[in-house]
Amino acid sequence: MADWQIWKKEAACVGGAWIGADSGESIEVTNPATGEVIGTIPNCGDAETIRAIDAAQAAFAGFSAMPLMERVGLLWKLHDALMDNQDALAEMLTIEMGKPLAEAMGEIAIGAQYVRWFAEEARRAKGEIVPAGVNGRRILVTKHPVGVVGMITPWNFPSSMLARKIAPALAAGCPVVAKPATATPYSGLAWAALAEDVGYPAGVVNVVTGSARKIAGAMMAAPEVRKITFTGSTEVGKELIRKSADTVKKVSMELGGNAPFIVFDDADLDRAVEGAMIAKFRNSGQTCVCANRIYVQAGIHDAFVEKLVAATQALRVGDGREAGVTQGPLIDIDAVGTVEELLDDAKGKGASVVCGGSRHSLGGTFFEPTVVTGATQNMALAKEEIFGPLAPVFKFDTEEEVISMANDTVFGLASYAYTSDLGRAFRLNEGLRFGMIGINSGLITTVEAPFGGVKESGLGKEGGSQGLEDYLETKYVCIDGI
Ligand code: NAP
Repeated sequence: MADWQIWKKEAACVGGAWIGADSGESIEVTNPATGEVIGTIPNCGDAETIRAIDAAQAAFAGFSAMPLMERVGLLWKLHDALMDNQDALAEMLTIEMGKPLAEAMGEIAIGAQYVRWFAEEARRAKGEIVPAGVNGRRILVTKHPVGVVGMITPWNFPSSMLARKIAPALAAGCPVVAKPATATPYSGLAWAALAEDVGYPAGVVNVVTGSARKIAGAMMAAPEVRKITFTGSTEVGKELIRKSADTVKKVSMELGGNAPFIVFDDADLDRAVEGAMIAKFRNSGQTCVCANRIYVQAGIHDAFVEKLVAATQALRVGDGREAGVTQGPLIDIDAVGTVEELLDDAKGKGASVVCGGSRHSLGGTFFEPTVVTGATQNMALAKEEIFGPLAPVFKFDTEEEVISMANDTVFGLASYAYTSDLGRAFRLNEGLRFGMIGINSGLITTVEAPFGGVKESGLGKEGGSQGLEDYLETKYVCIDGI
């Protein structure tokens, strides 16, 4: 058995037991690079989820009362377990998701960094003493774990999207019921296996696979689930926000993006091209922070396009496990269809394909890394998330014009701008309506910073000190008669 198969759990983890679906049904999991079936997972529904919630609720009192340094010690062990098994976990991630092995190794490593960060932040979950307005009174503000947390995550970062939720929940003292994406369940199930290995009490980390509607339905209906944290599409996120009203749950939503990537005439050209390649083509363009719209000022436009095309043509498409591959397959054939539709719409409205533009000769769900020029705001790709290796270049003239074009979206997750003008960098910080802004950087995700969007890109933050706060509730104690 290859090392990665040790972590391939073909069962859900409920209250410390590894179980199949009550119905006995299972779902096949395939490798998107080869189409090969790599295993199965249980097709669980509401009954198994309710048992997981009950187990989590039963574990809550004991886990939240665990001495802080024991809780921190478990997180340290979880960090070490991730890094000790980085090779195997990364290979499994590549096999179920398709991204190049180097990116999968990076994903496991950043997941481990989140665990370490929240182990540190757990020790700083401080309250405060606030000056009272009258004599004889003291006001204390204290922090407490919110309770059982339901988590639902997507396939594009099957390990690290859970890291950003599980780590702060465990740091705060909250038990977890997680549902990973059906396309990439093994990286999610591995969190339960790792937690079990390092000694988390049964019921603290539960992972349930199967029907999204039934599992989410059980989570949303349960009054014991005090918080729902979701990463995925805006459409599903809105549905979960609506459903959370019935039991007034705390919600964190990491939803879709439509990032502008702005290059001004005064930018360092090579740096801008390097940043655009990372922001556009990482994970074959399937990240929520991917550059969706590349705006280039007229004076630098042609030189930028020439270098962008050269860099794009140097990408190597293939199975993520092969050495030297930088672009894996898209997750499924529907994703290929979406890219083709957006490309056809753009071509129909006047865009020119400068490189790529077709399904890759490898077949399957491989698509050629593509650059188009002459993109305009009326094209569908200016409004919708592309989620594939298609880089549209727009031309602009003035700063005011590009800020207005960049903000012309319902989304507000990541944005990027390249300039050597410090004053302009500050004006962009104030003018761009996005939760994150990379100035002269195309890779901005880091554990110390609050990751998250504004507008229809989401609610709440993951990472930074805000990332722990989202798993805590605040109580105020008034002590009078002193
Ligand atoms: P998705 O269709 O919304 O699925 C995400 C998760 O929700 C999966 O576990 C899915 O389960 C589940 N789900 C599907 N329908 C549901 C429903 N009706 N009720 C409850 N859960 C449901 O999104 P995706 O296509 O996997 O992921 C891509 C999207 O995620 C993009 O929009 C991307 O921008 C966004 N994303 C955002 C961030 C961020 O941090 N802001 C990060 C990564 C991705 P099944 O797999 O079983 O269908």
